[in-house]
Amino acid sequence: MKAKDKLQLYLDAGFPLIYINSFEEEKVDDIIKKSVGGRRILEWDEMHRYRDLKTGEIINSEYTIREVLMMGIQYGELNRKVLVLKDIHPYLDSPEIVSLLKNACVQIGERKIDTAIILVSSIVKIPKELEEYLTILEIGYLTEEEIKCIIENFIEEEGVGSINLNLIDEMATAFKGLSQMEIENILALAFAEDGTLERSDLQLIHEQKYQTIKKSGILEMIKLSEGMDDIGGLENLKEWLNKKAEVLKNMKKAKEFGVELPKGVLIAGTPGCGKSLSAKATAKLLEVPLLKLDMGRIMGKYVGESEENMRKAIALAEAIAPCVLWVDELEKAFAGIGNPGGAEVTTRLFGHFLTWMQEKKSSVFVVATANDVLKLPPELLRKGRFDEIFYVGLPKKDERENIFGIHIKKRRPDDWKQIDLKALAQETEGYSGADIEGVVREAVENAFVAKKSKLTLEELTNVIKDTHSLSELMKDEISKLKKEYEKRNFKNASR
Ligand code: ATP
Repeated sequence: MKAKDKLQLYLDAGFPLIYINSFEEEKVDDIIKKSVGGRRILEWDEMHRYRDLKTGEIINSEYTIREVLMMGIQYGELNRKVLVLKDIHPYLDSPEIVSLLKNACVQIGERKIDTAIILVSSIVKIPKELEEYLTILEIGYLTEEEIKCIIENFIEEEGVGSINLNLIDEMATAFKGLSQMEIENILALAFAEDGTLERSDLQLIHEQKYQTIKKSGILEMIKLSEGMDDIGGLENLKEWLNKKAEVLKNMKKAKEFGVELPKGVLIAGTPGCGKSLSAKATAKLLEVPLLKLDMGRIMGKYVGESEENMRKAIALAEAIAPCVLWVDELEKAFAGIGNPGGAEVTTRLFGHFLTWMQEKKSSVFVVATANDVLKLPPELLRKGRFDEIFYVGLPKKDERENIFGIHIKKRRPDDWKQIDLKALAQETEGYSGADIEGVVREAVENAFVAKKSKLTLEELTNVIKDTHSLSELMKDEISKLKKEYEKRNFKNASR
């Protein structure tokens, strides 16, 4: 159902308080105007104060929000009208305003006054006192078709001249997840630079999109650099990911053939052994954006805020799809479950995430990473949530050889062939991938400082002698986790 129809339904049904969560003011105004029928719409915001939304006529440029609520409700000024309050989230900390809003809801509920109050804000903040009266209306993200229309309108209005149809398609894909205003701003910026829109502007679009998504505060778009070739070892995981990539990249054909849409993978295990690296490489393999979900930021302090943030993050990922959604340190997100107090929100959040995973129809491929799988609720580990669960242990000898090769080659492309990688692997039992990278980094630096012309085995072995490997530092924890993974029959990421 369209947002306009939903709002009309809510208004007809006499819902007292509707929260529209969006920062696309123009779009929201349009939706409200189309939903209220013949009723007058009175709007209050900090800048214009009190005015008529349809005509723009200022009714009173002095009124405070308190006065509007007092006059409107107590003296019946809002009868048969609709009140729109914009960006009032700072006021929702005021007990007086919350109480006036609550009083309004009660009066509307008792049919003493025929009105509805619509709150429009880019931030969802629901005081507990208003929870039972409030309904959230979501304004969905723009579809690719709608984005194309915006681009085409821009081209026409600005007299951009003819541009390649493929470029419009590519731009529309790159803009997915952004609002109309953001898209128009980025187009204007690209156009102002050189008086035209061309393929090179895609770079600017991506740059701006990184910024915009970061500002949303819930998801972060990660720039892609490492690919599958940058991962040493983990052959089982890589093979599995390659198989899924084949499906995801040919989704239409695969679906027709009866293949199920891949949901995602959980990669658990030892720190510093390539879990994050694998998440990044997966996005590169699939040639899609990588979105990182920061669970710490999802958790909010207001009622419903965390669930709303989670829902927003999922909606944004779905708008940007196809993409990889990387849920880092999954166990941290669910740490509260099962603990008395404070666990309620986490449980609801978790339920929402699970249901979404279960029913997901979009091409958002989830890569969840976790260090300590024992902290995860067992429901999450049931088959069917993730397509597969892998555990990543400390790299074996041949894997260490590979990892050394990758990191030396990256820094000293001319030296790596002359270095005995087998000897390095032999001496680094119990080292994590991150430990190995650290050894290479330090050895390269030492060689430079010692004014050597190249990196040698000796330089590397000297650093190894002084290094305390991860397994030395966390021996007991690592072996305990390894046993747990084996007991639970998780797939070993290494061959
Ligand atoms: P954490 O749980 O601490 O976040 P992680 O398993 O996600 O650890 P990564 O961030 O993937 O670890 O690894 C840290 C760094 O170590 C990587 O950026 C990479 O350079 C190096 N590294 C780890 N494992 C490998 C590997 N298998 N191949 C190549 N490099 C690796």
